[in-house]
Amino acid sequence: MEFDVVVVGAGPAGSVAAWAAAEAGCDVLILERKAEIGVPKQCAEGISAHGLEHAGIEPQDEWIATEISRALIYAPNGKEFEVPGDGYVLERRVFDKWLVVRAVEAGAEVELLAHARRALLDEGRVVGVEYEGEDGVHEVRARIVIAADGIESRIGRTAGLVPSLKPVEMCTCAQYEMVGVDVEEDATHFFVDAEFFPGGYFWIFPKGEGRANVGLGIRGSESEPGDALKVLNRALEDHELISEAVADAVPVEVNVGGVPVCGPVERTYGDGILLVGDAARQVNPLTGGGLHTSLVCGRIAGEVAAEAIEEDDTSASFLKRYQDRWEEEFGKTFKYALKASKIFSEMSNEELNALAEALDREDILRLVKGEEVVKVAKKVISRKPSLLKYAKHLMK
Ligand SMILES: Cc1cc2nc3c(=O)[nH]c(=O)nc-3n(C[C@H](O)[C@H](O)[C@H](O)COP(=O)(O)OP(=O)(O)OC[C@H]3O[C@@H](n4cnc5c(N)ncnc54)[C@H](O)[C@@H]3O)c2cc1C
Repeated sequence: MEFDVVVVGAGPAGSVAAWAAAEAGCDVLILERKAEIGVPKQCAEGISAHGLEHAGIEPQDEWIATEISRALIYAPNGKEFEVPGDGYVLERRVFDKWLVVRAVEAGAEVELLAHARRALLDEGRVVGVEYEGEDGVHEVRARIVIAADGIESRIGRTAGLVPSLKPVEMCTCAQYEMVGVDVEEDATHFFVDAEFFPGGYFWIFPKGEGRANVGLGIRGSESEPGDALKVLNRALEDHELISEAVADAVPVEVNVGGVPVCGPVERTYGDGILLVGDAARQVNPLTGGGLHTSLVCGRIAGEVAAEAIEEDDTSASFLKRYQDRWEEEFGKTFKYALKASKIFSEMSNEELNALAEALDREDILRLVKGEEVVKVAKKVISRKPSLLKYAKHLMK
């Protein structure tokens, strides 16, 4: 078997890459280890309206659970900031399938229960994938392999492009989908508390009629395996604002997973291979959001793969244009978000509260977006000199 492009992983990154490559005329095979695409979800399912638009995806009623018009961010002392911004909470179960159907309609083939074991290498060049299917182990040859196989990325690792994640470079997450949650449903809710959620935060993302994704991420270096679920349960009982919101709520689903928060790997391409989405660690290190970036980078990967096939040049030097293009879209954002994430994860509750006292909602919006950061940092220094070291770091 030989294909122009083999995509490993039918998450958002892989399906969009396959869709773009197939639409441009490539023979595409998607290998997915799951029995059902999009299930179980490992996601709070939030995406900005801008994120979908940037990816060229028209919102569809079938996969939108709720429309959001703002985010509410709560400091440890309960001070609330309202940050305006349109977005959606999705049904990933439906969304992920919808995306793969787009790829199939464009001509891609899909093999489920196909567990990729390693990249096939020939003198350092990736030439295909070894995978375990329902009826044994197979090899499939490809002119380009797109590794979209999520945070673990066996393909990225066996191709030598993805190093192991250190605990400090990831957040471990646990989430319940709950019914009976009492929050304002036109907003996503973010709770910051360095003691409860070290190096991360807690979220409630409403899905309508009392249903919501209720979960958290905490820094791997600050926790032991399995801690995330324990901290989640403790917060539901003991965190003042959260326990109030879920007083009558009941879990109907448990989700666990990891999010890379270290910024993208150094090289997201090689001879015969592209890395995309969580496999490339294309996740915003400040928010842990990876949907917007996966969709946009997935499209770029599919387009570049098609150009390489067309030009009959799948060398690393040709495929470098993939990295150039996604860096143009997200390079500055990733760099700023990594710096901001490091600063916030070092702050104590006392310092976070002082920051909350110094800032208004416009400042918070600027900090989240990485705009006019020097102005915000100067304001912090003038109002809360005790935060000087963080403000200085932010200005660098
Ligand atoms: C708890 C949690 C909450 C999150 N909430 C949000 C949020 O609200 N908003 C947001 O933007 N981001 C969120 N994220 C991050 C977001 O889910 C990811 O960034 C996004 O799913 C990345 O898409 P992807 O296609 O790269 O990877 P994935 O969605 O992980 O898809 C990878 C696919 O590859 C398949 N696969 C893996 N290994 C193999 C293999 N060896 N062989 C074959 N197939 C394989 C998997 O089964 C999967 O289908 C969250 C993450 C977690 C863990």
